[in-house]
Amino acid sequence: MSTIKTVNPATNQVEKEYAVMTDQQIETILTDADKAFQSWRKTSFAQRAQLLHRVAEILRERKSELGKLCSIEMGKLHREGIGEVELSADIFDYYANNGAKFLADSPLDTPQGKAFLSYQPIGVLLSVQPWNFPFYQITRSAAPNIMAGNTVVLKHASNVPQAAEIMEKIFTEAGAPKGVYTNLFVPGAKVSELVADPRVKGAALTGSEPAGASFASMAGKFVKKSTLELGGSDAFIVMPDADLDKAVETAAFGRLWNAGQVCVSPKRIIVPESIADKFIEKAKAVYEQVVVGDPLDPKTQLAPLSSEKAVQDVIKQVETTVSQGAKLVLGGKRINRPGAFMEPTILTGIKKGMLAYSDEIFGPVLAIYAVKDIDEAVELANDTEFGLGGTVFGTDTDKAVEVARRIDTGMVYINHVTGIAPELPFGGTKKSGYGREQSPAGIYEFVNAKLIRVT
Ligand code: NDP
Repeated sequence: MSTIKTVNPATNQVEKEYAVMTDQQIETILTDADKAFQSWRKTSFAQRAQLLHRVAEILRERKSELGKLCSIEMGKLHREGIGEVELSADIFDYYANNGAKFLADSPLDTPQGKAFLSYQPIGVLLSVQPWNFPFYQITRSAAPNIMAGNTVVLKHASNVPQAAEIMEKIFTEAGAPKGVYTNLFVPGAKVSELVADPRVKGAALTGSEPAGASFASMAGKFVKKSTLELGGSDAFIVMPDADLDKAVETAAFGRLWNAGQVCVSPKRIIVPESIADKFIEKAKAVYEQVVVGDPLDPKTQLAPLSSEKAVQDVIKQVETTVSQGAKLVLGGKRINRPGAFMEPTILTGIKKGMLAYSDEIFGPVLAIYAVKDIDEAVELANDTEFGLGGTVFGTDTDKAVEVARRIDTGMVYINHVTGIAPELPFGGTKKSGYGREQSPAGIYEFVNAKLIRVT
């Protein structure tokens, strides 16, 4: 790969190209980030908070333009892009407001003398991020780590270079000293070398399982802390007492969020047999009315997938599952127009052994399963290698919480698709990865919780 480019998925036209960085450029960036750490670690929380607040302010001032850039680079609906930029600003403010409190010395009970934890930054963090939320994904590791006193080197996905470049410029405009936050234009194949570099002290990746496994094994080899936020196959369990219309609407539109390209999208809708036919009929009626089109048009409800390859991959997954015996209730085809557009799709009758049962589908495909009771629903929900999020939808929220406790994931939401908020932890278990982002937990991943004991 010699260039990194924006290819607009609504037109499949190349919009902008960047040269991949040379080894010399990478060397300079890592040296600068390491050097910057030596002074950034000595700054006060107030100084760091000032930088993060200013980044948040700029993001808000430019949210429409940045949201549009998400549409151009990876096809996101403009309003979803604006929402993402606002969320990112909120995360910067959250760590600016709370970082000093989270990282204050933490006293420990000990029978002798005095003991406490002092949280200290560790150095350069390598952050490897995907394209599905071009600004939010970067923010999740940048905000807490810069607040903690680390410096960040970002390797963004190769299809969102403009977002990557703009974020670095925003940091500079906000007053970040050189090396505190830097973008690297390199392909995924270069990441292992970066993880191995002695100046890199921690490594955070969001993306696919193969990339995560390769990344973490390299981090392990060089004894570096890593976090992984990988794929998911969230179950959306509809309880027998659920309001059917609300459940259909929440699941159906939840699945269309970001054209289904969300790690915590409700990928498996699990419905009691007794209401399954009605649920499918209503979901079909909803999807038949969905407006597919230009991500910049406010009327559009489903925009293109992120790339030509993405749409081809998802269609192939659907076709394979149907050839294995599943029923295609709706959609399943690409739309006859330029760009990576796909019909909203509904699959039913998916059985163990079929591709869609086990694999994550990163697209607008609502997979509906019918089960005889809650025990079977929980068993099905847990019969996956993934363990990211999930939903239980029902009127009796105490009962829903009991079901939530039985689901093997890092997050479960009641009456809502798995969501995102600065103050709530985000992360998974099983093959969805390890570590947490956002919330107080997100700031402790790459700090040294040093014990100081006074006798
Ligand atoms: P990838 O895992 O390939 O890409 C994510 C990031 O990792 C990108 O920056 C990519 O760089 C980089 N990368 C690629 N290969 C390696 C590697 N060997 N070592 C370290 N970093 C690497 O995801 P895709 O974009 O290909 O998406 C594929 C699947 O990943 C999706 O279908 C979905 O299942 C999952 N995914 C999950 C996301 C989530 O939010 N959890 C987000 C996006 C994808 P480059 O772009 O240069 O290849």
